[in-house]
Amino acid sequence: MLNILILLKMYASVIVDIVNSEVDKIFEYSLNGLNVELGSRVSVPFGYKNIEGIVIGLSERAVFPIEKIKPITAILDDEPVLTKEGVKLAKYIQKKYFVPLALSLRLFLPTELRRGQVKAKVEKFCKLSNKPFEEMISEIKANASNQKGILERLCQTELVKQSLLANDFGISSVNALLKKGFIEVVEVQGYREPYKELNEQKKEIVLTEKQEEAINAVLSTDKMVTLLHGVTGSGKTEVYLELISRAIASGKTAIMLVPEISLTPQMLRQLRARFKDIAAILHSGLSKGERFDEWWRLKTGKAKIAIGARSAIFAPLENVGIIIVDEEHDSSYLSESSPRYSTIDLAKFRAKENNAKIVLGSATPSVDSYLLAKNGEYNLIELPERINKQPLPEIITVDMRTEVRRGNNTPFSYALREEIKNALDKQNQVIIFLNQRGYSKNVICTECGEPIKCKDCDVSLTYHMENESLLCHYCGAKYKMVKACPNCGSKYIRYGGFGTQRVVMELQNLFPNAKILRMDRDSTQNKEGHVKILESFAKREADILVGTQMIAKGHDFPLVTLVGILDADMSLHFSDFRSNERTFQLITQVAGRSGRAKEKGKVVVQTYSPDNFVLKKALAYDYKGLFEREISLRKATGFPPFSDIVRILITTKDEEKTAEVTKELYSKLKTIYESKKEEFSFFGCMKAPLKKLQGKFRYQILMRINKNNQDLLDKIYEISLKYGDRNVGVFVEENPTNLT
Ligand code: ADP
Ligand code: ZN
Ligand code: ZN
Repeated sequence: MLNILILLKMYASVIVDIVNSEVDKIFEYSLNGLNVELGSRVSVPFGYKNIEGIVIGLSERAVFPIEKIKPITAILDDEPVLTKEGVKLAKYIQKKYFVPLALSLRLFLPTELRRGQVKAKVEKFCKLSNKPFEEMISEIKANASNQKGILERLCQTELVKQSLLANDFGISSVNALLKKGFIEVVEVQGYREPYKELNEQKKEIVLTEKQEEAINAVLSTDKMVTLLHGVTGSGKTEVYLELISRAIASGKTAIMLVPEISLTPQMLRQLRARFKDIAAILHSGLSKGERFDEWWRLKTGKAKIAIGARSAIFAPLENVGIIIVDEEHDSSYLSESSPRYSTIDLAKFRAKENNAKIVLGSATPSVDSYLLAKNGEYNLIELPERINKQPLPEIITVDMRTEVRRGNNTPFSYALREEIKNALDKQNQVIIFLNQRGYSKNVICTECGEPIKCKDCDVSLTYHMENESLLCHYCGAKYKMVKACPNCGSKYIRYGGFGTQRVVMELQNLFPNAKILRMDRDSTQNKEGHVKILESFAKREADILVGTQMIAKGHDFPLVTLVGILDADMSLHFSDFRSNERTFQLITQVAGRSGRAKEKGKVVVQTYSPDNFVLKKALAYDYKGLFEREISLRKATGFPPFSDIVRILITTKDEEKTAEVTKELYSKLKTIYESKKEEFSFFGCMKAPLKKLQGKFRYQILMRINKNNQDLLDKIYEISLKYGDRNVGVFVEENPTNLT
């Protein structure tokens, strides 16, 4: 007999599911003879009770004194919930974004899985036992026709739901057969399928030469990332689908990211038409059961394509072949709550681990990405024309200052009204865009000129028609509409600016016969809300769709020939360094909804600054022109992508305390600044533009530092986070998407 000494893995390093800086460390447990693997979800003794944890390492020897190590209580799933890659990525996020590992691990699991909130749906099916069929039939009494019926049904169909048999033949007959051992119950994991109604035939499409070229370029380049810069309607989506198809054909899996939940159904529809049930959707709007099932389908390899908004980057897929980020410029790819990760950054990590390709697609790439492409770090592909050489819609601007002078105080210019009328006369559809939900933007006292503000936030309230309420769009607080100004008591209060509700009302007055739909956050409270409105508009059940951001992106409505943009320059006046870029993106995106089929589209842009450079570039579809100017501006001023912006946000309930902590932290950081001035292009501290939010006062320390300086960043994090506690919020944000 051979004596082989095998070093058995005896101990597991476990991260317990508590997000708390004091518990943010590894606890060791012994395996207790259980088949624990890396990434397993386990139950472990912690204090006086058992809690959940994830195994992030296994070893032969313990680091802790052995007598202190307790055994793992149980394994909670049939297989590890995290892959090896997942564990690695979780650690990367912990390091890079300075968050507890427990928090970064949570990103990988559907919340329903944690603490066993939702279980797999088990369905009972019946099947025949192994006894010879004729024998069973002969043993059944002549008058037991229901039992016979069951046996015959199961002879035709191998598995039939027990409840269905009970319904058709009576539960007593089912039980009788079970008792005799003629039939057996099999438990099958049920599937709660989201968006069941989204099932369509695949469109037969022959890829254009340009599309073929694009696909080949992605596959043949040795660069990991390809930037696909294609105008709206240039057939990018078909390129994505084909790339996914090739990945699947070669035995790999795919991740498809879209910027918004409202865009997932239409992408799912296209994926299902092509790939049937190997496409799974992940997002927070699904029911718990649906999300649980979709996640497990991906985890167990039943589904191979994950589609979703940014969090789908955590899809539990192995052997990923391609990651697609549609509308890559979209700010939703940067998470705004802790951990504040960049989706593209994580995509790069996963692509490297899997040796996969990344495609970033956009009609208006972020200047950051386009610069990387121009510098050769990304592979660049351009699709400058729409499919079938369909012209891009003509964009015209209307100077709203003139309109106001002419006494027009409706949301619509004369020109836009005419165009809407023309479109409706021709039975075409119209989209009206404005970035303001509610009835009026604000409510202002005509005596003292003060807007009515939220008690907890330094922002004006928006009037909503439902229950005549005033809503704070920042904290969600709801107030009753005021009868008098809380500031001076005056009764003369007016509505300022227009929101989607008001626009729908005014449109209905102008075009009493038109059917109008509204899509904004208020009209789409549940996940079906999005789909219903979009489907209804697509089916031509309405003539006009009025909406916010939500309708700006991605949607493909062939009958839309006119798009009206009511407040084009709204974002131009933000103090954010990205506002030029954003405005250009928004106008191009919204304009792109027009004229996507046979008839040429038109876009009417209403503005108070018609001579603005950004607007002019947008009208001319001159992305490169915008890019060149923007990039030289950023270079001259030392803004990203030539630097990294770091903002440290300090918030407390007490203004003095906020100022005090800010001052202390500022002077601490100043010593770093003093010793490394060459690393900084800006260093300062001030009140945040939004001075108060949810009852907390907000101050900030702002800096611009040389790019990719991880050491310096680490130091800033380390020093800053120490100032945070239960009462003091300290948040470090790298290149935040908004600096409010
Ligand atoms: P993008 O994603 O660039 O906005 P899409 O992929 O949605 O563009 O394509 C725009 C329209 O053109 C869609 O209706 C799509 O079905 C159609 N289309 C795309 N590629 C082809 C093709 N090769 N032949 C015919 N129609 C196509
Ligand atoms: Zn508020
Ligand atoms: Zn007043």
